[in-house]
Amino acid sequence: MITFLDHNNSLIDPETRALNVSNHVSDDGDVATSAFGTTVNDRNAFRIQVELDQYQGSSIQVKLRVGSRPWITLTLSYPFGAGAPGGTTRYRGVFHRLVTDEPDDAVLGNQTLLCKLRDLVLVRYQQGTECIEQAAIRVGRSASEDNNDHPNHLRHDVRLLKVNVVVFSRPGTTALDGPIDATATQIKVDSVADAHESGFIQIESEYIEYDGLDKTNNRFLNCTRGIEGSTAAPHADNSPTLYSTTTPVVSRSQVMADLATIDERFAQATIRLNRPVSINMGGTGDPGVVLPSVFLDGFVAANEDPLQNPTEDEQRVVGYADSNMHSMDIFYVDELLVDTIPVYAYAYYPSANATQDSAYQNFCIVSANIYTTLSIPHEVMHVLLNASHRSSEPDTALFYPTPAAGKPVGGPKRIGPYPDAQSTGVGNDDTMKIRSIVEVLHQ
Ligand SMILES: [Zn+2]
Repeated sequence: MITFLDHNNSLIDPETRALNVSNHVSDDGDVATSAFGTTVNDRNAFRIQVELDQYQGSSIQVKLRVGSRPWITLTLSYPFGAGAPGGTTRYRGVFHRLVTDEPDDAVLGNQTLLCKLRDLVLVRYQQGTECIEQAAIRVGRSASEDNNDHPNHLRHDVRLLKVNVVVFSRPGTTALDGPIDATATQIKVDSVADAHESGFIQIESEYIEYDGLDKTNNRFLNCTRGIEGSTAAPHADNSPTLYSTTTPVVSRSQVMADLATIDERFAQATIRLNRPVSINMGGTGDPGVVLPSVFLDGFVAANEDPLQNPTEDEQRVVGYADSNMHSMDIFYVDELLVDTIPVYAYAYYPSANATQDSAYQNFCIVSANIYTTLSIPHEVMHVLLNASHRSSEPDTALFYPTPAAGKPVGGPKRIGPYPDAQSTGVGNDDTMKIRSIVEVLHQ
């Protein structure tokens, strides 16, 4: 008989439970340990046991497959009970850690197993070509919390996060080629080569809408002057002119990599993205979404907690959200400023929204210029937890204010619970909380 054992060598029943993603985001110690009776601290670790009627020597081999990945051969080196009259022999292998990205998988050889949520883990014991025993179990939710009331909730209860991504264009700067008065409707500059066919420009404090480009003569055409409450004014030759280029602030492949990081960070909570993800990169060729006039000089966020008076930029950006109130919107902009200070990213969650308008929640703004590997998962977490930073957070937490350290293998970046926290109980309920909220976001 083949069985799956947990970190304490207790049976995991595949009928009611699943294996859990470990991912090196915990600091529960390594699993590179051996012997029949050894236990490990990582609650998400597991090992395989095969019980046979006859002693087969000091070790046996089994084959294991995760999802549709190739079969691997594992040696179970730890027998127990050999030679007992009428008894059986039990063989155990090393502890395994299920991981969801390749750098993590490279660490411990066959002790780390690359997987996706809902994969089936299949184990076979053969003698020659004959399959003697077989067992299978799903990759599912974290064993460390089990408040879900579905009878089979431990099996593979994967929760789906819906996100909508909007990637804006990079702003560009050119200069007026000749002075203009306050009424000119054709504006000549040094270059319009990489401008959108229609859009907005900013010259000094005046915002201007244009609808047409003359690429031969470097002119913005059909200009409407003094929009957005600004004042049409004359401008001198060589005045700097801001416009929206046709280069997105991040590439589509970068967006895909960031989405993969969300999946990777939240796998331990058995949460993954609902795919395909809607990604708006401004249409054919991914030029980025044309910058509204108020974004041309950087995206400015209000320095208010909670938010009461959204800035012009905040008022504008919520118009790019999708219509699903249970999806989280992720907006990539060139530069994100809070009180003129550039920040990585900024989350808008319900408890930080005092505007009385639910448009100002369940989204985040990401600065394409400076955000780091974990910035976006960090902001997703604010939205799902509906909370600011926790007190007494260790800097190894994903909830630490500056998630800039990346996610090196063995560099724990977990949501919770958090054994390293300076006060007990930090994050204890966080996994339950985000799982309960992820498919129907706070409103
Ligand atoms: Zn934060």
